[in-house]
Amino acid sequence: MFAELSPGALDLRDRLVAFMAEHVYPNERELLAPPREAEKWASRPLAMALMEKARAVGLWNLFYNHGPEGQGLSNWEYSQLCEILGRSLAAPELFNCNAPDVGNMEILATYGTEAQKQRWLKRLLTGEIRSCFAMTEPQVASSDATNIETSILRDGDDYVVNGRKWWTTGAPSERCKIAIVMGKSDPSAPKHQQQSMILVPMDAAGITVVRPLSVYGYEHAPLGHAEVLFENVRVPAENMLLGEGRGFEIAQGRLGPGRIHHCMRFIGLAERALEIMCERARTRVAFGSSLAEMGGVRQAIGQSRCDIEQARLVTLKAAWMMDTVGNKAARNEIAIAKTVVPETAGKVIDRAIQVHGGAGLSQDFFLAEAFAETRFLRIGDGPDEVHREALARVELARRH
Ligand SMILES: Cc1cc2nc3c(=O)[nH]c(=O)nc-3n(C[C@H](O)[C@H](O)[C@H](O)COP(=O)(O)OP(=O)(O)OC[C@H]3O[C@@H](n4cnc5c(N)ncnc54)[C@H](O)[C@@H]3O)c2cc1C
Repeated sequence: MFAELSPGALDLRDRLVAFMAEHVYPNERELLAPPREAEKWASRPLAMALMEKARAVGLWNLFYNHGPEGQGLSNWEYSQLCEILGRSLAAPELFNCNAPDVGNMEILATYGTEAQKQRWLKRLLTGEIRSCFAMTEPQVASSDATNIETSILRDGDDYVVNGRKWWTTGAPSERCKIAIVMGKSDPSAPKHQQQSMILVPMDAAGITVVRPLSVYGYEHAPLGHAEVLFENVRVPAENMLLGEGRGFEIAQGRLGPGRIHHCMRFIGLAERALEIMCERARTRVAFGSSLAEMGGVRQAIGQSRCDIEQARLVTLKAAWMMDTVGNKAARNEIAIAKTVVPETAGKVIDRAIQVHGGAGLSQDFFLAEAFAETRFLRIGDGPDEVHREALARVELARRH
């Protein structure tokens, strides 16, 4: 598990660190700050220029190991690079490694037909377009995906999609051209064969992006999250992914790697929070001593180091298991990482906010937005309780 990174991965890691220092941190504020209202959901010249630069030097599609468009890294190797790019919330998109495009590219590469790959995957891999994944619905508890009500019904040579989705990440962006929509194609089938996934072009008639949604006030422009309405949206039958009734199969395959990527990115965020917590503590004086000399602050720093090490180890173990025994056999380790890391990283970031005082809550530091991001992931990709429940099932069965 602790084998050295390959020379290729080491080279990528060093170049990634240098790229982050030269191009990402100095521009972070501008990349994340809300631009002029009219340009909010449009492509931003600075981000596009940096994406072009990253692509030109091969820091591109680092997650992708289905072909020459990626860098051929294992999950274990990519996890360690993901930690570096995760240090800034502005970075993942610059390297074409952002959610939900990564998960959608994985779906198309694994389950797409040749025609679907030519039409959509190719353009996603070059970063020409963006995509979204529309499963969650406002009217039902979507952590239980059997509840999903959107209908995807066959009509001649087409399917017709009707339903209301929300929290569809990427949908507000002008660059979002394709949605993977989950819905019921056969309500009379056994529970786990009722749902299908289908490709729906975002310019199809009958789609309305109703409104953007914010996370603690952050809109995450230019990709964002939206409520989206599908009214009698007609797409050709060849847009079906894998086959009718196979939505759950695809969903399982999609979420494993994506969850690990989120975890590794959060470890990077937590490391950066700990770094600036120490800097601040060393340089700030209150009541005659530096914050770094105060017992409570020292405890916060020491505990944060313990937390980050534990979080990193469970995540690396999950990535290593995915490489050695496959995503399915690694599902417990993935669930453990998904449950442990967002909460742990959130605690570290929260301590860093406390040590910064009012500054920690402001827009002058990355901490407030980072806290919101870790908080959301205790719900996104399945709430913590659902993963703990799955783990409990396994533990109880083992001791039966
Ligand atoms: C920023 C953000 C981005 C997102 N991006 C996407 C996206 O791109 N595409 C998409 O389809 N969805 C997306 N989601 C939606 C997300 O996946 C759902 O919010 C999540 O799956 C939970 O579904 P729900 O909101 O319907 O909560 P519900 O299912 O209503 O659950 C509410 C709460 O019930 C409790 N609960 C549920 N099940 C159990 C259980 N078994 N045991 C104990 N307690 C339980 C938990 O506390 C849970 O938080 C995103 C969400 C956010 C916040």
